[in-house]
Amino acid sequence: MEEKQYMISSVTVYCSSSGQAPQPYFDEATLLGKGLAERNIGLVFGGGHVGLMGRTADAVMQGGGTVKGIIPRFLEEREVAHYGISELHVVETMHERKMLLTGWADAFVILPGGFGTLDELMEILTWKHLGHHDKPIILLNVGGFWDQLLGFFGRIAADRMVKPGYEAYYDLCSSADEALALIDRINRRQASPA
Ligand code: AMP
Repeated sequence: MEEKQYMISSVTVYCSSSGQAPQPYFDEATLLGKGLAERNIGLVFGGGHVGLMGRTADAVMQGGGTVKGIIPRFLEEREVAHYGISELHVVETMHERKMLLTGWADAFVILPGGFGTLDELMEILTWKHLGHHDKPIILLNVGGFWDQLLGFFGRIAADRMVKPGYEAYYDLCSSADEALALIDRINRRQASPA
């Protein structure tokens, strides 16, 4: 599904805050950040220096790109904020943060993650389902990480609690390179519509 109506110039990345995630996830986070910087596509993220989040942000910064982080004050106070990025916005509530994370993005890329990442993914999927936005949602399915969740979506559909066609809400990519190639295709299409 490549439904984007305008160029992707910034991407919100949702991903794990864990430093103990498998190495291949870190490798893909690095490649994604590097590729965003090369394309001059800004990164928007949750503002932490930890886990895959920190790795993605570092890779964009090292590549000379732009990174905007949005962190709630209580997490900043736990000293997980990343101060080495282009802009760090400290907000009062998780809800305020989510509004900015979703509002500032032209597209979403979801790397593997835990409860926080799942929450963020389910929110943007639900909002797309309800017609609140029409931005691309790219699931980075490193090592088949999202397969079981997608299987569960199938169960929900089989039980007729979501209508067929929900698969069009997201794109599945198995690597950062594939996700970046998809972003390039969307942007080329926007630059010269058929
Ligand atoms: P999780 O997948 O549970 O590690 O949560 C990661 C997601 O939740 C990220 O995309 C962040 O937006 C948010 N988040 C969770 N923990 C942190 C943290 N320590 N610092 C900043 N953001 C976090």
